[in-house]
Amino acid sequence: MDAATSHSTVHRGAVYLHQGGSYLVLEFDLDAAVALVEAATPDWTTVAREDTDIRVVESIRSRIAGDVELHLGTVEVSSQVVSYQRRQTGSGRVIGDEALDLPARHLRTRAVWYTVAEGLLAEAEIDDDAVPGAVHAAEHAAIGILPLFATCDRWDIGGVSTALHPDTSLTTVFVYDGYPGGAGFAERGFLRGGPWLRATRDVIAACECVAGCPSCVQSPKCGNGNEPLDKPAARRLLDAVLCRLDPS
Ligand SMILES: [Zn+2]
Ligand SMILES: [Zn+2]
Repeated sequence: MDAATSHSTVHRGAVYLHQGGSYLVLEFDLDAAVALVEAATPDWTTVAREDTDIRVVESIRSRIAGDVELHLGTVEVSSQVVSYQRRQTGSGRVIGDEALDLPARHLRTRAVWYTVAEGLLAEAEIDDDAVPGAVHAAEHAAIGILPLFATCDRWDIGGVSTALHPDTSLTTVFVYDGYPGGAGFAERGFLRGGPWLRATRDVIAACECVAGCPSCVQSPKCGNGNEPLDKPAARRLLDAVLCRLDPS
């Protein structure tokens, strides 16, 4: 596997599934790029927790539509796997939380991002407490949909959403290319921004689940254990964004 994936899947203590087999990671030697595993079938799974920060280096292109801005630019992404949870198989109950000592990884790449002003949040009836769940759910759904517009896999892209980003001073949702220098996926997202976010909104609206599921706003690669997610607020957010960006 590639180095980036290894931190979250074969860290010390991870339960690693491979071709139907289950293995427990005994040792993870980053310098040698080797994980030592033994066949084991514990009655728990492991989920890594990863902190990701994104810094805007520069905006290259932008579209400003009232209080919504869509940007394409260069970003610096820092990711660090900080801990993992052990969860009981079946119930999903958390039975342990272990810290990990892995270095941060840095990636300079391309991202597409949109910002929304406070007035839009008020219009969409998203109060301060609901903003993190709204943008996080909107980010996951947008990542799930982008492969329909850019020929990529959801594992080729990543995202960061934040109620207040230090570089934009606004509520911001980023989707970035997972390869150094970028691979053109974020650019496709920028060029097809309206249709992409409309399809994102439609997937959320059409999904029959109540609070979010893997078909709409949950992500299998979320570094935050899919918390928080607010599906109804994400839909209202995207409705308000599309009023500006892609009025139909
Ligand atoms: Zn759903
Ligand atoms: Zn997430």
